[in-house]
Order: sequence, then structure tokens, then C-alpha cells
Amino acid sequence: KPTIVLVGRPNVGKSTLFNRLTRTRDALVADQPGLTRDRHYGIGRVGEREYLVVDTAGFDPVAKDGIMHEMARQAEQAIAEADVLLFLVDGRAGRTPHDEQIAARLRRAGRPVHVVVNKAEGLDRATVAADFHALGLGDPLPVSAAHGDGVKQLVEFVLAPFPCDEEAAAAEDEGPRVAIVGRPNVGKSTLVNTLLGEERVIAFDMPGTTRDAISIPFERGGKHYTLIDTAGLRRRGKVFEAIEKFSVIKTLQAIQEANVVVLVLDAAQDISEQDAHIAGFVLEAGRALVVAINKWDAVDDYRRERLKLDVSRKLAFLSFARFHEISALKSSGIGALLKSVDAAYAAATANLPTPRLTRALQVAVARQAPPRSGLARPKLRYAHQGGMNPPVIVIHGNALDDIPAAYVRYLERSFMEAFKLQGTPLRIQFRTTQ
Ligand code: GDP
Repeated sequence: KPTIVLVGRPNVGKSTLFNRLTRTRDALVADQPGLTRDRHYGIGRVGEREYLVVDTAGFDPVAKDGIMHEMARQAEQAIAEADVLLFLVDGRAGRTPHDEQIAARLRRAGRPVHVVVNKAEGLDRATVAADFHALGLGDPLPVSAAHGDGVKQLVEFVLAPFPCDEEAAAAEDEGPRVAIVGRPNVGKSTLVNTLLGEERVIAFDMPGTTRDAISIPFERGGKHYTLIDTAGLRRRGKVFEAIEKFSVIKTLQAIQEANVVVLVLDAAQDISEQDAHIAGFVLEAGRALVVAINKWDAVDDYRRERLKLDVSRKLAFLSFARFHEISALKSSGIGALLKSVDAAYAAATANLPTPRLTRALQVAVARQAPPRSGLARPKLRYAHQGGMNPPVIVIHGNALDDIPAAYVRYLERSFMEAFKLQGTPLRIQFRTTQ
């Protein structure tokens, strides 16, 4: 899935545009208690098409030290990993020397760059175009991030050169596409080697460019899986070795491409913000998830108890997922982990027939009716499946506007139980019947 990176000096409206681009995210996800969200990474959608959006903080390419330097360093990494760069400028302020500096940097990026003129509402297009054309990055594209004008056209235009990914149709033969993610040093590469070392790696071809995500097909217990590389692995002799530093963007791309995500945590450390951010992104992407608490061999009972508490406090929003205590190093707990991967994949791709969904809905409503809002009591009539990966359940009825988030979660739990779905988030949508 293509990655769009936003660059520009402070105050040109990057966050406003970022929010516009990622606005389609499921409101229910934002509602999960305990979910921390990194506001610099998001998923956007035009029609059926998904893309990643990365917002770089104010970018000063000549900063030498301090926080500005660190921000510039992160922006550099994002630029290197982008598929498309949107260089945001302020139409009202006009072209500034700072814009020129950034433009000079972006001309060397070796990526498609589009100059996007924000705050363009009511401005004379020809004048604006001439002013920013002088940046030497082609025809500027006017938008108003605050009003939303031109944003959809912008996305369609910049994504047009990228092929739409044929939905994982081949997935059935190759089994689930599995991404192993986590912050640095939790043991991802060790886990990958444990998984691949013992089992047959099926015809692994090194692709030509480093930009391609590497998929490594392997077989275990007679089942096929495809591992999506996040750690920048290269084969060296019998083992795979991480050759790149940890990259948030690569992690997000792998999550997008996966059917099932294995989130690796380090039992020796408390749950960090970064763990929670990655977990939040898995949820936002709607991916099936299995959590591996690694290095279980290296911790004592006190640490184990403490970690369990920490998990229940900070990762409560992952209650749909199975947690496994493993040791990648000693190869323990791996079989059970893969069983949960299978179960999560089956749940994410399950067929949910309308009569059974409707029955489950009726049972749930009989047990606990939706609360009245204003004068009307919501009527939930029937349900059908609206999609897979994650499963989408569309509930038809009347007076559905103000169903509280807590009740939606109750319905989610009820469907999960009725269909024994383990390891996948669910999406519930409401549709008013005439
Ligand atoms: P990555 O950055 O997530 O790929 O982490 P690595 O796989 O490179 O592992 C980081 C360090 O943790 C290495 O020193 C590993 O040997 C160690 N490690 C990984 N898994 C385990 C485990 O299950 N138990 C113990 N005790 N150490 C582990």
C-alpha cells in the first residue's frame, strides 16, 4: 500500500491536512479505552483504496543539533521510505526562503514530489501557481485542508500511478500473511529465525529492490504461511539477519499487508508507549492479532506478575487477542503461538451467514436492550456480513444514531462469542432501514 509523507515548514497546515486524509478511520476505534494514538501515522482511504499517511514534524533541513535536528533526522527517514511526498506550502503567505530550502532537499529525494498549496480557498489560482512553480517541483496543486476542497482530487491524482493491490486472492494457497512487529530488541529477528530455522523455507527469492517488502513463504506442521519482513532481513548462511534499523513506516506497511500480526513484547521490560502505538495501529488497520510476550525464559515470577498487570492496564484495548508467553531463543511456546495465528486468520476470514448473525443479534438484544436515546428506542432488526479481514457486521434497524460506544462493544463481544471468533477485531456498522 502506498505511503504518502507530508513535509513542510511549521504552520502551513500539515496536521489539518493529515486529519483530513485519515478522517475515514473508524470512529469506534478512536473510542477504545486505553488506546494511545500516535498522531503522526494514519490510514487513509479513497473508495476501497487504502494508503498510509505520515506527518513529519516541522522540517528544518539545516538544523545542526537539538530537537530541530532530531526532527529533521526523522523527517529524512520518512522521506527515504515514502512512495509519494506532499510538500505543503501556505498559499496566503506565499513562497518563503524556508520553502526554498525544503524544495532544494526534496529535489534530491529521488521520489515523486507534489507541491500542495494549502489555504488556497479564494486565492487567484494563476498567481499562486506562478509563485510556487518557481520552487522547481512542477505544477502546484491547490487545496484547502480546513474546508476539504481539493483533498480527494489530490489523493486520487497522486495515487494514480500506483497499481491497486489485487486483494490477497492467492492468500488461500499461501496461507496467512504474517507480520512480526515490535519495537527494537524485543526479539523479532530471533523469532523469525526460530520460525524459519526449524522449518522449510519454500523457494525464497530475494527481490531486486530494497523498496519491496520481502515475503518469505514457509511451512510448519504441514501448513503454509508467508512471513512479511519488517526487520529488513537478509539471508546470511542459514540464518536471517537484520540489516536495517527499526523503522516505524516499514512496520506500518507490513501491518497493512498482513492478514495476521504477531506483536512481540519483551517480558523483561514494562509496556512502553511505542508498544502501545504499534498495537493501536494494528487495531486501526483492523488486523487479526496475536501477542507474543518474548524472553519469558529470562524473567522471574515477580517480573512475570508485574508484566501481567502492566499488560492488563496498558493494553486493555487488545482484549480480542490471544497472549502467549514464549521464548524465541529457546524455541518454547512457538507451536501454540502458531495455533493462535491459524485461529486468528480463520476468524478474520470467517463466513458469517445472515440467519446466524441475525439470531446472534436477537439473542444479544434480548439479554440487554440498547438504551433509549431521546424519545426513540433503537430497533436492531437484522444483520449481515459486510466484509472480511476484519469482519464487518452491518446491523439494520431504526433509530440507530446514538447507540453508545459501550453498547457497540457489548454487541461486538456477543458476536465474538456466538461465532467463537478469536483474535480479530470486529467492525460494526449501522444502517437505517426505511
Ligand atoms: P529485534 O530487534 O526485535 O529483531 O530483536 P533481536 O531478535 O535482535 O533480539 C534482541 C536481543 O534479545 C538479542 O540479544 C537476542 O539474543 C535476545 N533475545 C531474543 N529472544 C530472546 C528470548 O526468547 N530469550 C532471551 N533470554 N533473549 C532473547
